[in-house]
Parts: sequence; structure tokens; C-alpha cells
Amino acid sequence: MHTIDKADEAQLLATIDRWVEREVRPRVKEFDHADKWPAEIVEQMKELGLFGATVSPEYGGLGLPATTYAQIVMKISAVWMAITGIFNSHLMLALAVEKFGTEPQKRHWLPKFASGEVRGGLALTEPNAGTDLQAIRMTARRDKGDYVINGTKTWISNGIEGSCFALLVKTNPEASPRYSGMSLFIAPKGPGFTTGRKLEKLGYKSIDSGELIFDNYRIPADHLIGEVEGRGFTQVAGGLELGRINVAARGVGIAEGALQLATDYAQLRQTFGKPIIEHQAIALKIGEMATRARAARLLTLDAAQAFDRGDRCDMEAGMAKFFSSEAALENATESMRIHGAYGYSKEYDIERLYRDAPLTCIGEGTNEMQRIIIAKQWARRSAA
Ligand SMILES: Cc1cc2nc3c(=O)[nH]c(=O)nc-3n(C[C@H](O)[C@H](O)[C@H](O)COP(=O)(O)OP(=O)(O)OC[C@H]3O[C@@H](n4cnc5c(N)ncnc54)[C@H](O)[C@@H]3O)c2cc1C
Repeated sequence: MHTIDKADEAQLLATIDRWVEREVRPRVKEFDHADKWPAEIVEQMKELGLFGATVSPEYGGLGLPATTYAQIVMKISAVWMAITGIFNSHLMLALAVEKFGTEPQKRHWLPKFASGEVRGGLALTEPNAGTDLQAIRMTARRDKGDYVINGTKTWISNGIEGSCFALLVKTNPEASPRYSGMSLFIAPKGPGFTTGRKLEKLGYKSIDSGELIFDNYRIPADHLIGEVEGRGFTQVAGGLELGRINVAARGVGIAEGALQLATDYAQLRQTFGKPIIEHQAIALKIGEMATRARAARLLTLDAAQAFDRGDRCDMEAGMAKFFSSEAALENATESMRIHGAYGYSKEYDIERLYRDAPLTCIGEGTNEMQRIIIAKQWARRSAA
């Protein structure tokens, strides 16, 4: 279980704050509007240790608890959510190896992931299968000491710029139940593994979302995480709680960022002889936005604390993810409306938050699915 001293946590969060204000805020529009890969910012994230944020210190990471990690993600997302995807998806890859890999796999891969020398993400989704992951078609066929992999992944974050992915495949496509034939591999780029186009998106710019194409891609059998077939689906599900806490934290960041932009603007902008925040219609919006942002933060920290205690927290993480992402969407919309015409302008920041917010409702399990998961767990826990 990772822990951190309160003073060290405060110092780390202050460092992140300073970095965001000095390096990220002044350049975000330039990168976001051009949909340009933020190479310098990624180098700075390496120096800050973000690519190893949740990796254990014995493998070269910072070993942060989920509560500290979530607060880092909140701070960055309040200004530019997209760049958190560059290390968040990567940390899901690292988590899969640390939690389920063999000791030699951990020793080989984790220090490279933690330093950011090798970066990547999690490759689950295929053109025909997102929510219903057990319907994937990608196969890995054993061939002596290797596996040969064929198929296509899509929507993979860091797909173009990253070089290594946790890859979900079917090692036994005929298995019943379907999940028992699924396995997770550490897949570095190499012959037979190419990338397709960078996908064009509404928001979440600069970070690359790509197609990964595998054509007789051959990797040694020791790249199978845990080196036992048939555990891939469980291994992916084992990372979901932290993944959802991370998306919840992104939602909190956007909800708080949108609130701050709206508050600043409403105090400056005057109509009918007074700042618009003094008109009750606007004050009501700000009051609701502030409450939503605070509730999202508390739910997310509650889920992160449960995770850090080692408690089962699928329901808490689901609630945090669902509520915070909806809060992000609502606050971004309300903030844009408070900005009037300027909210529609590319010169103001709120349009970016408005474009970035909807992704938090989709990633790490759509909000439709979250409510179903919450209900199932709620019913189970409420049973006499
Ligand atoms: C910008 C971006 C980045 C992404 N990054 C990654 C990544 O790094 N790695 C990766 O593997 N994937 C990634 N994804 C894919 C993402 O995880 C999927 O889009 C998501 O899981 C939903 O799958 P889908 O798009 O196929 O929608 P579908 O599964 O086709 O769902 C369509 C709609 O039906 C609803 N639905 C589906 N099944 C049910 C059900 N049983 N009950 C009720 N409603 C249901 C869904 O909630 C949704 O509203 C990314 C997506 C985006 C947009």
C-alpha cells in the first residue's frame, strides 16, 4: 500500500501547481488549437516523475497513493485535461505489469515505464468492440516459444507517440465463457506492429488517439503478463478502479476549472450597471456549479481513500467517475453560457474545457455502464 507524508504531499502538489502555471497555462492554446504533440511538456512530465507516479519505488516510481495521484490529475485537468492522458493511460499499462506480471517482467519493464523512457498505454478497444470487450477479435496464436498476433485496435491513447502497450487478445477464441480465452500481453512496437492514422477528435487534442495494426506480429511468450493464458480480462478489470478514479479526477479538474473561469468572468463582466454575478440568474448557476465541483471532489477523494486502504471500491470509483464526469460536462456548459458570446470564442479557455469534458463520460466505461455497475454493487451490499 503506498503512503506519503502530508508535508511531502503538500510540497509535491505545490510543485505541480507552479509547473502548470509557468509551463502549461501559457502554452495550452497553442498546442490545443494546432492539435500538436506537446513534446517539451512531455519532457517536463518525465522530470516531474509523472510517468512513474503510481509505480512502486523499488521499480523506480514515486509510489504515490491514489489520493495524491488524484489531486495531481485534478490540478492539471483544471487547465488542460488532455495531457493527463499521456501519463494516465501509460500508468494503466504499468499497473497491469506491477499487479499481475512475473518478477522478471516487473524488473525488466517497470523502471523503463517509470522513467518515461518507454511510454505507452492500454489497448483494449477494437472497431467492433468497446463496452463489450469480450467480443474482441484480435487473436494470439502460440508458435513454439512465441505468440503470433493479428488484428486491429482503435481509439488507443498514445497510439502513435507511444512505443509499448498492454494488449488484450484472444488466445482461445472458442472459449466459453468468452473471458476465459482472453490474455494480456506487453506489446512493444516492432515488425508486424504498425500504426494507422491519428484520429480527428472534437477535443482531447494534442494527445494522439490511434489505430494499432497487427499483421503476424511475433513476440516471445514471456511477454504474456503473468505468463499464464486466460487471465487477461480479469487483469484488465483489476485496473479499473484506479482507472476510474483517474477519470473522476479529470472530471473534477474540468468542473473546478470551468467554475473558476465562470467566477472570474462574472465578476468582471457588467450588464445593467453591475457585475453579472450580482444578477440572481447567474449567482444561481455559480452556486450550483460550486456545489457540483465540491461534491465531485469529495466523491473522488472518498473512492481514492478506499483504494488506498485496500478496500473493494468498484462502487465508490464508479460513483466518483459517473458524478464527476457529468459535473465536468454541466459546469463546462454553464460556464460557457455565463461567458456569453466570448464563451464561443477560441480566444477564451472555456471552449477547450467544453470540448474536452464529454470524453470523461465515455472513457474507462461509459456512464451508462457505470450506473448499471453501481446499481448491481449497491443491491449486493444492501442485501440483508
Ligand atoms: C478519445 C478517446 C480515447 C480512448 N482511449 C482508449 C484507450 O487508450 N484504450 C482503449 O482500449 N480504448 C480507448 N477508447 C475507447 C473507449 O474505451 C470506448 O469508446 C468505450 O469503451 C465505449 O465503447 P464504444 O465506443 O465501442 O461504444 P459502444 O460499446 O458501442 O457503446 C455505444 C453506446 O451504447 C451504450 N451501451 C453499450 N452497451 C450497453 C449496455 N449493456 N447497457 C447499456 N448501455 C450500453 C454505451 O454506454 C454507449 O452509450 C478511447 C475513446 C476515446 C473517444
